Order: sequence, then structure tokens, then C-alpha cells
Amino acid sequence: MLLPIDLRSDTLSVITPGMRRAMADAEVGDDLYGGDPTTRRLERHCAELLGKEAALFTASGTLSNQLALRGHTRRGSEVITDAKYHINFFESAATADLSGVVLNPVDTPDGVLTPTLLDAAVDRKRRARLTSSPSLVWVENTVNYYGGSVIRVDDLAGLRAAALDKGLPLHMDGARLPNASVATGTSLAEYAATVDTVAVSFAKALGAPFGSILAGPADLIEQAVVHRLWFGGGLHQSGFMAAAALYALEHHIDRLADDHAHARLLRDLLVEHPGFTAPEPATNMVVADVSGTGLDSTEFVRAAAEVGVKAARWTDTRVRLVTRLGVEESTVREAVRRLHRVAERHGALTAG
Ligand SMILES: *Cc1c(COP(=O)(O)O)cnc(C)c1O
Repeated sequence: MLLPIDLRSDTLSVITPGMRRAMADAEVGDDLYGGDPTTRRLERHCAELLGKEAALFTASGTLSNQLALRGHTRRGSEVITDAKYHINFFESAATADLSGVVLNPVDTPDGVLTPTLLDAAVDRKRRARLTSSPSLVWVENTVNYYGGSVIRVDDLAGLRAAALDKGLPLHMDGARLPNASVATGTSLAEYAATVDTVAVSFAKALGAPFGSILAGPADLIEQAVVHRLWFGGGLHQSGFMAAAALYALEHHIDRLADDHAHARLLRDLLVEHPGFTAPEPATNMVVADVSGTGLDSTEFVRAAAEVGVKAARWTDTRVRLVTRLGVEESTVREAVRRLHRVAERHGALTAG
């Protein structure tokens, strides 16, 4: 029996015995009946870590994003972002429904929203009293679509200045901001200082089972507490989950360097077979083009599953492979052996 190896996402990491103990031992109350002490501790810790006035624990990255959006925007206004960011790819319906805003997505070549592109996005529509006007600029870091690519803090500072110049606030969807921080040596606070609000996920690379933090100005966070309840995201004994998040912040940030090294190894080994091409990963994701195997990405994902490797279909020709807590160097080597077997098997079939 082949032991299954699941490389579809970093949300699939299994919680560690230490995290389980921290959750079991958590001091809890009820967040809607007088407050939950561990949740308060997490929120204070995150506000400090991100250098913001306040922070709010939420159920998901999507909820943190939607609360930020609601807090920053007016109905009928416009959010300038990249077409490939999560907000446009996966949250555009929520954006329209919950906040009544429209997205003005630009096509960046590499996931980096620049002042020039921001200018172009503002200028390409007629701006008059009766038309929509922008109310928010939105970036993502790391950029999921571009295989966990990193936006440098200098680029964000430039965008921040350009947005301020137009009187627009800036939000960062930092579901994987800890990966960007570890990859560049830029602290979470240095990154967060370039934006008004930031959302960071605990259930992605940090390996907790649940949750996200939204950090920003105190008045916006106060409003977000209300909207969180309206959106059905009020929490009760959230201390168990907050304890897991606190544990992740303490124990799982430095180890992201291992995930990044494993992703580089995965890519380097994978492209030793001519069926695969992939750019060097900046963080924990490999986006591999499999067209050299003669299979499209859907066929490749199916064939990989048959040899016990789960990959995520990304585009017609590309698949995504993500390293995470629980994926060791030996796991990577075994996964690549199996994926090479897929390429060889299919290559042999088409040759014969
Ligand atoms: C996963 C992800 C989200 C959404 O997080 P959920 O917890 O799944 O709602 C938002 N933005 C980015 C960049 C993500 O990768």
C-alpha cells in the first residue's frame, strides 16, 4: 500500500501533539457573554506583532477580508486590485453581496500591484460625480496565483505612498504573510506598517485548524466586531481555537524556512525529468507545468492520485504542489519519485 502524500494545500497540515495540548489546556469563557480570555490574549498579541492599534480573531481568511472591505468602503464604490488575487478569483460574489462594492481588477504581469498600474486603473474609467469612485486599494502577499510569490516591502511602501496620494486606504490579504516575512527577513510589523489593515491566516502555512486575524485601526476593528456578528461569525468559546493560533505563532513561524527549502528541493528534483518545468519557488508552493508529460493538468492530477500523490489542478497545463508542516524531505523525495513514474508511464504509452 502506498502511503498517500497530499500536496494540494498547506491547509491540510495535521495539528501537532503540542498544539492539541495547548488547546486542551486553554482558559476559555464565552466571547458573547463577557469575553474569552485566550481570544483577548491572541488579539492583543497579534496587534503588537503587527504593530496595529487593534486586532480581531475571525473564523477564516475570507471573513477577515470581507470585514476589512466592509469597514473601508462605501456601497457603490470601487476596489482596485489584481485580477488574480483571491479577492477577485474567489470572493467577488461575497464582495458584491456583503459590501455592495465593485472590483476594478488590473492585470499585473507578476502579482505586484505598482503605482503605475494603480494610476492606470483609476484613469481608465470616467471619473465624474455620477460614476463610481475608488475607495480602497487591495494587495495580496504572498501571491497565491503566482505560486506564493513575494511582494517586497519597498514595493509596498511605494504603493502605499501612491494610494495615500489619492486618499485611498490600503488593505493587505496576508493569508500567507508569515511566509513572505520568513523568505525576505522583513518582519511582520515592517510589512504591516505599509498598509492600513492586514489579514493573516492561522490555518494556512501556520498549521492551526482554524482562524485568521484582522489587524488595523481601533475604530475599524470596533466596526468589524459588529459586522462579524451580522455576517454570522460571532464566536463563543473561541479560546480553544485562539490557543491553537497562539501556539502556531510561537512554534510554527521559524519552521516555515523548512517548507521553503522543501519546495525548492521538490522543484529541483521534479524538473530533472524533462516532462516538467517550474519556476523556482519563492516560498512554499511549486507551480509545475506538466504539458511535457503529454497529459493536461486534469489528467495528470488523476494519474498522480493513482500513485498516491494529491496535487491541485491550477491551470490547463499547470498543477500546484504545496509543502507544509508534516511534509518532510523524505516525503518530497518519495512524491517526486512517484510523479516521475507518472511521466514515464505515460511517455512510454504514447511512444509505444
Ligand atoms: C486561503 C486564502 C484566503 C481565504 O482563507 P479561508 O480561511 O480559506 O477563508 C484568502 N486569501 C488568500 C490569499 C488565501 O490563500
